[in-house]
Amino acid sequence: MDLNLAHTLVRTASAHPGRTALFLGTEPLRTFAKLADRVARCAGSLRNWVGLQAGDRVALVMKNCPQYVELLYGIWHAGLCAVPVNAKLHPREIDDILQDSGARLCLATDIGAAPGFRTIVVGSTDYHALFAAPGMPLANVAGDALAWLFYTSGTTGKPKGVMLTHDNLAAMSRAYSSAVSRIVAGDSLIHAAPMSHGSGLYMIPHIAEGASQVIPASGGFDAAEVASLVAKHHRPSFFAAPTMLNRFVEYTHRTGVELSNLKVVVCGGAPLYVEDELAALNCLGPRIAQIYGQGESPMTITAQAPADIASAHAAGDRKALASVGRAVPGVDICIADPEDHALPVGEIGEVLVRGPTVMQGYWNNPQATAATLRNGWLHTGDVGCLDERGLLTLKDRSKDTIISGGANIYPREVEDALLTHPAVAEVSVLGRGHPDWGEEVVAVVVRKTRTQVTTSELDQWCLRSIARFKRPKAYLFVEALPKNSNGKVLKGALRELLAQPREAPNARTWRWRLA
Ligand code: AMP
Repeated sequence: MDLNLAHTLVRTASAHPGRTALFLGTEPLRTFAKLADRVARCAGSLRNWVGLQAGDRVALVMKNCPQYVELLYGIWHAGLCAVPVNAKLHPREIDDILQDSGARLCLATDIGAAPGFRTIVVGSTDYHALFAAPGMPLANVAGDALAWLFYTSGTTGKPKGVMLTHDNLAAMSRAYSSAVSRIVAGDSLIHAAPMSHGSGLYMIPHIAEGASQVIPASGGFDAAEVASLVAKHHRPSFFAAPTMLNRFVEYTHRTGVELSNLKVVVCGGAPLYVEDELAALNCLGPRIAQIYGQGESPMTITAQAPADIASAHAAGDRKALASVGRAVPGVDICIADPEDHALPVGEIGEVLVRGPTVMQGYWNNPQATAATLRNGWLHTGDVGCLDERGLLTLKDRSKDTIISGGANIYPREVEDALLTHPAVAEVSVLGRGHPDWGEEVVAVVVRKTRTQVTTSELDQWCLRSIARFKRPKAYLFVEALPKNSNGKVLKGALRELLAQPREAPNARTWRWRLA
């Protein structure tokens, strides 16, 4: 397409110059005209004052804040590439990303974010100077120029830099409007989740259509704050990982807070269990969308719009509710065996994806690129199946598949079964090495407060809905599951816990069904 992504802001600023583009909580900060002006100035400074060249990488090590929007669009306007970094990472992890990406500048919210690295801190004199220079015209960039070098969250292994172009993100943006929810000028997007990830990407379609960006004053996720922002803004939407959605639903249910102008909560990034989806529908009404994507095809592989979820609910169609919806327009999915042969409808295999949202490869990592982009397809590492209606149901990450006595067991199925038990708040199921079976199934369970449940009760419960061989051979009760900052359960950390000898000090908190 050969259009700079930041063109969408220039266009909106001429269509809706006086509309509020940015809010901090409920405080209006910038109109679209002002935002576009500051973005052009920032771009001019990055090129002419800081001395960056087209294509240079600029890291954003920033918590959610309104300045994120100005700086990100400034980077794009100048023809540079953003490297969004989760500000909650350890300084060593941040440094790894800065080094690997070859970033020439770091923009940060905290002074100590990147010791020894050329950094401009939000609020500093240098930061203000970025906006003092005259604006530059929008840089011409080829559609295949890099826009977003995103380091995968690393629930497995060392993060890799996913190369996404202006065209990739434009395709992601179009898919939002066609498959998730149509945006109209005057809508708003609340950044309840990190702007360095999906929430930030959802800025693109919203800015393109003239919707306001609302950044919670706390800079983080707080259900009460999000609920109060929902009540005060026009047709707000927000992206939420399932853990956040659950907390929001619990808060809404408990307080009965008024949310009639909520437009849609887009949930994704981790499994949304049917029980939780039903609770959300009962509490929030037909305003839940689900998406399935990954850094390598960001936010965009399949989607289930609010109307699809609501009609599946009305029809009692649990299979549709348990799915992640259909491939978005323009994106093709194939379920394949380990040799990349397409499998028939209903069979379980790896989810392969091709289409305009798929990354160009991993930065400076041809081996990982060749392993992931093969035979024209992105190999997602996710395991699932398609039904005759084109609905994709995810079973698990392929590396999480448990093979016990030669049978494949998908943790997701066992988790689904356990989650329907009234005493179970959260659960993660994984495999542990076993001398006879290869692996055995272990469930790590968080009980709801003030409830008790025994392993034999859970065992009986599983037998009601899943095959005998799939049920856990051991249970471990914990206070909370280890999660990364995006709410994904860190199975690696759980595996380490399981690998500890049973006589280790914390083994006392474990209760084993089979010794
Ligand atoms: P990331 O690259 O960090 O965004 O992680 C992407 C991974 O999260 C995917 O490959 C899936 O394993 C998982 N994921 C994303 N969306 C969903 C969803 N709606 N349901 C289940 N798992 C999901």
